[in-house]
Amino acid sequence: MTLTALISDIHGNLPALDAVLTDARERGAERYWCLGDVVGYGAQPAECLDIVRELNASMIRGNHEEAVLRGPLGFNPLASQAIRWTRDMLEDHRDSLDYINSLGVRIDHSEAVLVHGSPAQPIDEYLFREDTLDHLPRDRDFSPKLARCFQLIDRPCFVGHTHVPGVIDEGLTWVEPADVANVYDTHSRPCIINVGSTGQPRDGDLRASYALFDGRSVTFRRVDYDVHAAAALIFAADGLPDRLGQRLLEGW
Ligand code: ZN
Repeated sequence: MTLTALISDIHGNLPALDAVLTDARERGAERYWCLGDVVGYGAQPAECLDIVRELNASMIRGNHEEAVLRGPLGFNPLASQAIRWTRDMLEDHRDSLDYINSLGVRIDHSEAVLVHGSPAQPIDEYLFREDTLDHLPRDRDFSPKLARCFQLIDRPCFVGHTHVPGVIDEGLTWVEPADVANVYDTHSRPCIINVGSTGQPRDGDLRASYALFDGRSVTFRRVDYDVHAAAALIFAADGLPDRLGQRLLEGW
């Protein structure tokens, strides 16, 4: 299979996206799958959307695309304010709004499924490491949330949304990238792989996150980028809360 770069949760962070794409190209990526939330939080949503479109990426809708179209229902005040700002920015880019509106919520490639949140609720269900802790071995029904997700996939499934990279395997165990030296072999079996966030990592590691997939194994990548430049753009944007820049510098 063509080496594919999986990118998620860019969130309008163009310096991070540029750094990830440079790294992916250097490693031989020839195809791009994007798991949604290209916009929201960051200062350059239209620019990031243009790049994703130019990549001809397989692209699905995230909860922030949904919120730009339908309003920030259920969003916290910080995120809501960013969505209103983003919507205002994109009003001048009608083709970007049309593009967002054209996006589906799930893509089934022969090698893997793509959703933003989870197979059960593609746009907005979070699958956390903690969800793997409430089951007993050999009793899958004990974790109905994850069991339901695994019933809906028959191959590896890539997700984003939590901004924390890792894998939930068929045994409903959480696998940290560090546990497997950043390379996870799917054995082409069902599993749920979170590629982390390119534009707003929340695991305390400020570097942009993405993954490479060769059809069987997944390589988790972290890439340095100019996080101060990305934060400065947010500080300078009239209408974006400063805390959204500050969190990039702190990794939450
Ligand atoms: Zn997100």
